Amino acid sequence: MNDLVSSSYGHPTAGPSMVDLSLDEMQDMLRQLAHQFSVDEVRPNAEQWDMESEYPLEAIKSAHELGLLNLHIPEKYGGAGLGCMEEVIVNEELAWGDPGFATAAYATSLAIAPIITGGTEEQKEKWLRKVADGALASYAVTEPGAGSDVASIKTSAVKDGDEYVLNGEKMWITGAGYADFFFVLVKTDAEAGYRGMSGFLVEADSDGLTLGKKERNMGQRCSDTRSVIFDGVRVPTENLLGGAENDGWMNAMKAFDMSRPNIAAHATGLARAAFEHALQYADERETFGNKLHQHQAIQFMLVDMKTSIEASRLLTWKSAALADAGEKNTEAAAHAKRFSADIAMQVSTDAVQVFGGFGYSEEYPVARLMRAAKVMQIYEGSSQIQRMIIGREMLR
Ligand SMILES: Cc1cc2nc3c(=O)[nH]c(=O)nc-3n(C[C@H](O)[C@H](O)[C@H](O)COP(=O)(O)OP(=O)(O)OC[C@H]3O[C@@H](n4cnc5c(N)ncnc54)[C@H](O)[C@@H]3O)c2cc1C
Repeated sequence: MNDLVSSSYGHPTAGPSMVDLSLDEMQDMLRQLAHQFSVDEVRPNAEQWDMESEYPLEAIKSAHELGLLNLHIPEKYGGAGLGCMEEVIVNEELAWGDPGFATAAYATSLAIAPIITGGTEEQKEKWLRKVADGALASYAVTEPGAGSDVASIKTSAVKDGDEYVLNGEKMWITGAGYADFFFVLVKTDAEAGYRGMSGFLVEADSDGLTLGKKERNMGQRCSDTRSVIFDGVRVPTENLLGGAENDGWMNAMKAFDMSRPNIAAHATGLARAAFEHALQYADERETFGNKLHQHQAIQFMLVDMKTSIEASRLLTWKSAALADAGEKNTEAAAHAKRFSADIAMQVSTDAVQVFGGFGYSEEYPVARLMRAAKVMQIYEGSSQIQRMIIGREMLR
């Protein structure tokens, strides 16, 4: 128990760089670029995208051209070769612009994470370069009958000569309607649970692959979410990720260590936006002869929002810095994702409260932010699943 207690103070191998919280020149330049992009291209369109469930394809292309997306593709495959820290800095700003846009723009990064961690040299050269050139991709793991319990997926791949034949249905796949290809997790050994899973890279125009209709979601409505059906889809053996069967689980899960800091950054950006709207409104609106923020009950609500946002960013940065230092960041990423998603929900709900009746109206952005926050507690591993991960790591 002593060991458990002492290790709860922090990551034992966290070095001195962990306490330097200043951004370097490149990071600060990226932050400003992403912020300005959100000011110019995202915020002015966010309400319309959400109201009309319009996929922000042109803005995603512009962000790609500006060099704001998929920053972790190594330079040798045409990417920027930057780290998780640079990604989280950019992603906070994009979500500050609009969380739905940030989710839609980030889907490809999640889909290529398993290629970065587990692809063969040929696969990296082919698929990462495609994305560096502007292709979009989706991460297809969840099924109608299996979300949190990934080991229960049923989609199968059976070898037939120099091809595999895929059958099954994936659900809730972000960006599916616009993806050029999919990372698909399947069972290659139905009896072996998570040890019987493999990852495949599947072209979106493959025969037998069809898409469901766009889901009508509570929030982040500009992001495209659909089912993807595989009916005898033939995939060449060279598209088996890593070249070996039954290696898929580790790759799919390692992807989350790269992506969860970014979802945490989205949640931090959302919360920051909601807080700023609430602070401004509390300075403009008067009740009982005082500005709203002069009432201590409201001021303390704003103060708690600000503390939560600071803590959320620190957890996010720590999980990203560990990844960049080559350290295992599974627990840190789970802390960051769980905490940031939960505070995004809390802060955006409190922002609606500060606005009173106007907060309940879609005329102000805080209602959209509150609707957008909920899914952050659900996707990429729900808040309950993050607690299970932290518990498992804590008691290891
Ligand atoms: C908008 C949106 C976009 C998405 N994008 C993608 C995507 O791009 N790719 C993809 O593969 N998936 C995607 N998902 C799926 C998402 O990851 C799953 O919805 C999520 O993992 C939860 O799975 P589930 O919906 O099956 O819920 P379930 O697993 O059925 O869980 C239901 C509830 O029970 C809780 N729960 C489950 N098991 C436990 C347990 N053991 N202990 C305590 N509580 C538990 C969960 O936290 C949840 O609250 C997306 C989902 C949404 C809504």
